[in-house]
Amino acid sequence: MSRTVAENIADITQRIQAAAIRSGRDPQGIRLMAVCKTVSPERIRQAIDAGVTCLGENYVQEAREKIPAVGHGVEWHMIGHLQTNKAKYVVQLFDWIHSLDRIEHALELDKRAGRHNRVLKVLVEVNVSGESSKNGANPSHVPALVRQISALPNLSLQGLMTMPPYVDDPELARPYFIALRRLRDEIAAAHIPGVSMAELSMGMTNDFEIAVEEGATIVRVGRAIFGDRP
Ligand SMILES: *Cc1c(COP(=O)(O)O)cnc(C)c1O
Repeated sequence: MSRTVAENIADITQRIQAAAIRSGRDPQGIRLMAVCKTVSPERIRQAIDAGVTCLGENYVQEAREKIPAVGHGVEWHMIGHLQTNKAKYVVQLFDWIHSLDRIEHALELDKRAGRHNRVLKVLVEVNVSGESSKNGANPSHVPALVRQISALPNLSLQGLMTMPPYVDDPELARPYFIALRRLRDEIAAAHIPGVSMAELSMGMTNDFEIAVEEGATIVRVGRAIFGDRP
């Protein structure tokens, strides 16, 4: 028998707590994001009923249908690739953007957020592995990008996000999580005005426990909550 969304969330929450405790962290410092791409509003509501307050979407088109259906009583996080021509929807639909990796997108989002009197929380996505197929800023460009974003009044920088290469053994993802944390520490030490580096968005179904051990504050989990995607 397949397990319910609520059972999956209870199980993941326990695993997050155990990973936090064994690495000397406060479990309260870690939020579970339910990643909802391809998931129906009805199943998303099951996750909300089970206590999830943080929801992630990858595609603007899908979000435009589902976010109004589910409602804004929860936080919506954009985790997918950004496109300039979708910025106007992104600023209306989402509270957080995890996938900011270039200044052009930051300028466009800032301008549009200003028109809606909104301040968006943003994370810079970092391509820690350097794979050419991946989104995310090159780590060596991130400090300059952070400074540029810090000057934009309608974006509030909260930290960094990464997606390591896919590996079967989650232990192999650990070096990428460590690298993101070190980059975060380096930028935090520069004390750039208006910049918080409190958040590390890292860890998915296969590797969220390792990510928590290495400092994740937001883990983005899809399949372990909702089952395999079509
Ligand atoms: C799909 C996705 C996730 C969730 O992946 P699962 O393996 O289903 O947990 C997390 N982050 C991003 C950016 C994604 O696109």
